[in-house]
Amino acid sequence: MSIAFDDDFSERIVTTSQTSVDDGEVTLRPKTMSEYVGQEKAKENLSVFIEAAKRRGEPLDHVLLYGPPGLGKTTLAGIIANEMGVNIRVTSGPAIEKAGDLAALLTNLTENDILFIDEIHRLDRSVEEILYPAMEDYALDIIIGKGPSARSIRLDLPKFTLIGATTRAGQMTSPLRDRFGVMLRLELYSPEELQKIVTRSAEILQVKAEPAGTYEIARRSRGTPRIANRMLRRVRDFAEVRFDGVITKESADTALRALEVDELGLDAIDRRMLRSIMTTFQGGPVGLDTLAATIGEEAVTLEDVYEPYLMQIGFLNRTPRGRCVTALAYEHLDIQPNAPQVPEQFRLDGI
Ligand code: ADP
Repeated sequence: MSIAFDDDFSERIVTTSQTSVDDGEVTLRPKTMSEYVGQEKAKENLSVFIEAAKRRGEPLDHVLLYGPPGLGKTTLAGIIANEMGVNIRVTSGPAIEKAGDLAALLTNLTENDILFIDEIHRLDRSVEEILYPAMEDYALDIIIGKGPSARSIRLDLPKFTLIGATTRAGQMTSPLRDRFGVMLRLELYSPEELQKIVTRSAEILQVKAEPAGTYEIARRSRGTPRIANRMLRRVRDFAEVRFDGVITKESADTALRALEVDELGLDAIDRRMLRSIMTTFQGGPVGLDTLAATIGEEAVTLEDVYEPYLMQIGFLNRTPRGRCVTALAYEHLDIQPNAPQVPEQFRLDGI
């Protein structure tokens, strides 16, 4: 698999991006629709489309999966290939540098194969243009020669399915977005769904885990399976070294506290962001770019990685005038709204 992950959040246990500690992810990846927990709406629709395509003996229509990182887009693409009984080729937007790279990928596909492009919103424009006729007519337009003698020839491609994954559907160009017949949005998972995922992963990793222990991990993993699985590994380390090897509520809590993950799954950076809005911007509204500059993070990281969960738990609102924190967030951080605060830049502890 050639997936390029160039964001470096390796120090955060709650990062949604794939890090080196997730190398074992492949073993934990569900292979069938029935093993894939949650996302009922997406699964239900997909099952119908897969069944219909199979009955007609045609490839599945092109599918766009979108939603925050770590929710199971790559996993779902693999499951679709499995259920369709076809091969899948995996690549990512930034990995396809030239139009020729994509042309090579496309011509190497066999009938009904799936091409999975992660981070499809990061495809280069010139590469993207190759995709339009490929998706629509299963054809590749190649220009031969230069200047006045240049001519275009059309090559037929095998019928294939493109599955695109993106964290930001809004950043895709509309010609590309419109060429997907199926668009599925993946949602953050409930603690109960995550508990099922953690329980399954614990069985695969052969770790003993009590339900209260798996639930503790689940409710602190920000609605994201990737984080849940990563926390499970770290909690296992603590359970083995400091406890009797069993994941209990107590061993999970001790491990997560040591990793500075609080009761709700927030880490030091989340707290810094919320506190910054409360102190420097009196609770908001504050524009995304201003906020990003204040806490020294990139705006896209805030938007893709931090905000979805903070909004889901009702700590942050997006308004047309900017981001605002809510009363719940004040309560959680034990800060009085409108009370004079020490501005973030003068705080020494950073927590
Ligand atoms: P994305 O492509 O959206 O970033 P992945 O498909 O790589 O996310 O998922 C990250 C990990 O989370 C996978 O290795 C898998 O083990 C786990 N996972 C994701 N979704 C599910 C699910 N619905 N059920 C069980 N495990 C899941």
